Amino acid sequence: MNKLPREFVKSCDTCARSKAPKHRPFGLLQPLPIPSRPWGTIEWISSRTSDKEKGVNVQVLLRCRPFNDEERKANAPQVISCYDQRREVTVIQNIASKQIDRLFTFDKVFGPQSLQKDLYDQAVVPIVNEVLEGFNCTIFAYGQTGTGKTYTMEGSGRKTKNGELPADAGVIPRAVQQIFDTLESQNAEYSVKVTYLELYNEELTDLLAPEEFSKLAMDDKSKKPLALMEDGKGGVLVRGLEEEMVTSASEIYHLLDRGSAKRQTAETFLNKQSSRSHSIFSITIHIKEATPEGEELMKCGKLNLVDLAGSENISRSGAKDGRAREAGEINKSLLTLGRVITALVEHLGHIPYRDSKLTRLLRDSLGGRTKTCIIATVSPSVHCLEETLSTLDYAHRAKNIKNKPEVNQ
Ligand code: ADP
Ligand code: MG
Repeated sequence: MNKLPREFVKSCDTCARSKAPKHRPFGLLQPLPIPSRPWGTIEWISSRTSDKEKGVNVQVLLRCRPFNDEERKANAPQVISCYDQRREVTVIQNIASKQIDRLFTFDKVFGPQSLQKDLYDQAVVPIVNEVLEGFNCTIFAYGQTGTGKTYTMEGSGRKTKNGELPADAGVIPRAVQQIFDTLESQNAEYSVKVTYLELYNEELTDLLAPEEFSKLAMDDKSKKPLALMEDGKGGVLVRGLEEEMVTSASEIYHLLDRGSAKRQTAETFLNKQSSRSHSIFSITIHIKEATPEGEELMKCGKLNLVDLAGSENISRSGAKDGRAREAGEINKSLLTLGRVITALVEHLGHIPYRDSKLTRLLRDSLGGRTKTCIIATVSPSVHCLEETLSTLDYAHRAKNIKNKPEVNQ
């Protein structure tokens, strides 16, 4: 198996925006290499899908975690019942001493007993296959802090000594393994690149930037953070973002660890809570293939894995009627993601993608041709009931997104 040399990847017309006609026109955040920094600075471009290609494909899953020790000790009543086979969730609510059962249906439901492997095999394997076919896909974890977003996306543990993934490994390490297993079994040249971004208070941080530069950035208040900018053609660029080319799954695990450690350092430094920041881990794959006519074709697919900020940071009324809470409490990107979803569902003419960096970055996975999967996470306990209902409502709204060709900003 040959890895594609960097020069070849640079000739990819989606990434480099060259005029070569053989590339398939998929597009979300495609890399545009600009070798201005020695460690490989890049820009990203989100190429806009044409109206004809638009067809929303949103899969919404619900995952309920088991009771934690605290809830168990407190004998917290269980208010959620999951029916994995029927893809249904019921929530018991007591209103004015009357018991009301509310029923929600999703594409898939994973109850407290579900394993990381179950969720991955049933929901994520087909998505990664799409990426390997040259599509751009995004998986979001959405829910209240402490309900299992990071557990679902990252889990604990990477590869064990015998090369197997531990049972607790989440979506990201499993996706990495599937990608490399597939690439290595195919007779094709390929390259794999990753980026790892954090978005906090509308400020982007590169979690893969070399340590000395991140320290510099924190000490030097005048140093500008990564810049997100329009390219004038409907796309979005992230100027100054570190992009790492990798040749094996273990290299990616190493980068994940490096990025997560940096996230924690930055947290201490800036006194912020990771529950209020979004992280976006992206894997871009180029595969060189020969057509039956003997022509060379390069497939370019991208997988965005997004661990969203805790949903308790958005005001429920704000998400619905657009009124914001006090400045300090708002998580603009999460709020806007909710508004974008509502606007798509209600077929509003104006979709407010531009109102937050998250929706600008991921614009083409909401309302575009690309495939989107939202994993909504909840606790089974009565103590989280209010937030659970908010998560279920949000996820349920997302489920009803329909295609509307003329949808635009
Ligand atoms: P979040 O990222 O949503 O704040 P975490 O992923 O950190 O939440 O999960 C909180 C705790 O619950 C962690 O200790 C995690 O290991 C545990 N947990 C979450 N989901 C599950 C699950 N499905 N099975 C077992 N433990 C879980
Ligand atoms: Mg988390």
